[in-house]
Amino acid sequence: MAKMQFKSESKRLLDLMINSIYTHKEIFLREIISNASDAIDKLCFIALTDDKLGMTRSDFKIEIKTDKEARTLTITDNGIGMDKDDLENNLGTIASSGSYQFKQQLEEKQDDIDIIGQFGVGFYSAFMVAKEITVITKKYGSTTAYKWQSSGADGYDIEECDKDTLGTEIILTLKDNTEDENYDEFLEQYRIQGLVKRYSDYIRYPILMEMKKSRVKEDTKDSDKPEYEDYFELETLNSMVPIWQRPKKDVTQEEYDKFYTEKFMSMEKPLKTIVTSVEGVVTYKALLFIPASTPYDYYTKEYKKGLQLYSSGVLITDCCEELVPEHFRFVKGIVDTADLSLNISREMLQHDRHLLTIAQNIEKKIQRELTSMLGSDRENYEKFFKSFGRQLKYGVVSDYGLHKDELQDLLLFYSSTEKKLVTLSEYVDRMKEEQKFIYFATGENAAAIDALPQTELLRSKGFEILYCTEDVDEFTLQSLMMYKEKRFCSAANDDLGIENDEKKDEDEKDSSALLTFVKETLGDKVAEVTASKKLVSHPVCLTAKGGISFEMEKYFNSVQPDSGMKAQRVLELNLGHNAVKTMEALIQTDIDKAKKYAEVLYCQALLIAGLPLENPSEYTDLVCSLI
Ligand code: ADP
Repeated sequence: MAKMQFKSESKRLLDLMINSIYTHKEIFLREIISNASDAIDKLCFIALTDDKLGMTRSDFKIEIKTDKEARTLTITDNGIGMDKDDLENNLGTIASSGSYQFKQQLEEKQDDIDIIGQFGVGFYSAFMVAKEITVITKKYGSTTAYKWQSSGADGYDIEECDKDTLGTEIILTLKDNTEDENYDEFLEQYRIQGLVKRYSDYIRYPILMEMKKSRVKEDTKDSDKPEYEDYFELETLNSMVPIWQRPKKDVTQEEYDKFYTEKFMSMEKPLKTIVTSVEGVVTYKALLFIPASTPYDYYTKEYKKGLQLYSSGVLITDCCEELVPEHFRFVKGIVDTADLSLNISREMLQHDRHLLTIAQNIEKKIQRELTSMLGSDRENYEKFFKSFGRQLKYGVVSDYGLHKDELQDLLLFYSSTEKKLVTLSEYVDRMKEEQKFIYFATGENAAAIDALPQTELLRSKGFEILYCTEDVDEFTLQSLMMYKEKRFCSAANDDLGIENDEKKDEDEKDSSALLTFVKETLGDKVAEVTASKKLVSHPVCLTAKGGISFEMEKYFNSVQPDSGMKAQRVLELNLGHNAVKTMEALIQTDIDKAKKYAEVLYCQALLIAGLPLENPSEYTDLVCSLI
């Protein structure tokens, strides 16, 4: 009998498959198993109403066998099976649009090998590893069984054959090994076991395989030299019911923890587990985790954000980026939805309406969970914030502040008065009546900020100050601009919005000669010299004028040393301080010494602000000359 020919499109796809240089050839097993599971679904449904079939849910299974000598891998199901027409229609043509698209893409960009994994190319993908495929099948309601056989593009044969039971047996005769490819790997039970675990762990029917094991021979048990023998044991390779499909009340936290540590290869338990099940416009289940600490590669480009995406228990992609927003990129987990087809491509995923809705829901869910943790489990929230607070702040700054409303109430800053982390809302609730702004001060660490002279007046007024100790902190507050209608104000600002002290105003009037002298001495180093209204015990401090703060200057110069970013410096003098008074007196008696005093005081102000001295050795010479 003449060979039957594949439909022309299928033939071209087959050619591509057979000659594929794709590195993830292993996905063929996922495809074959998914087909088997679909076929069982169909017969299982019929079994509900057809008593004559004599089968119940627990009778259905998929079996895998390897034969090293014959170099075959056989996948058997007891599903609905196929008749002659089915074989011709289903295995002789490309049925799904997904496969057709796949073919087109593969032809267009031959070098982009990654696309194969994104398409459910189904049955044909087996030709990536098999030189011959035999399908022996008997359909529900039919008395005849058929054998379909093909070695690839030259066509296929169909003939009647014997088969007692319903269902389908797919026998893959593996390709010969080449220098580059070792197809024997698909005959190794541990490799198959691994593939099933990875791609098909949540198929709802048991996937069984005879596993070769070794044991001590019974009669040599007690001897000095025990002998071993091989034996076979049927093992279920898949866990079948995914943990996220089980009702939350039936799963213990230990089980969730174990799942997390195994699945995401973590040494520690998650800080928080979020379980959610949604039915409605979109239907999905999600199991999300917040890690207990920052992954070592978190702030590098090696770290990949995203959730695992399953479609009814079958893995579609390991890392679906679209499912979590950038500011929650620390969240790990799984989403399972029946609303997606297995055949969905990466490009299609990005625009899939269901997926976008799921992503929006997940974002809201994470936000709600974090908010409730902040309210009811502060200790753990602070742990979380220590690991990922920086990410939330980046979230406020990025996308032109698009997410700030969503994130601002999740932020924590160290407070000068409370001596612990506080929220912006707590700060505003405590604000004094006469207090106009939310004050913050920037420095390397809390101790350095404690010592900042700029904060003296604020402290003396009893105003709370938020400490910005991370480089992103000040940008975060600047991006927020306001919180509950209160503006943010840096302690290093020249205007702190505090009512002028009359006495100091008078001081200023008769100090104009001193201020002019210091400004002339320092020249362009400072934009202005003023009589300070905020200093109490320190002689000098630097404040910034205009749009650029000292922190911005430091930050930009660290990432781009020649950026030329410089804040306008205002040197504030505490006119009541002895050092300043002495300098003022010296203007009359020893003007050179007075100039040296002005230089020294300016350098001190730089040091306190955490800014580099232009010439450190000149500074020490200067100090020595005065000692
Ligand atoms: P897809 O599964 O995406 O439709 P495939 O190429 O994987 O495409 O399979 C084509 C068709 O062949 C399936 O839709 C199904 O009708 C049939 N088929 C494949 N494997 C089996 C099987 N084990 N039992 C019954 N029918 C099968």
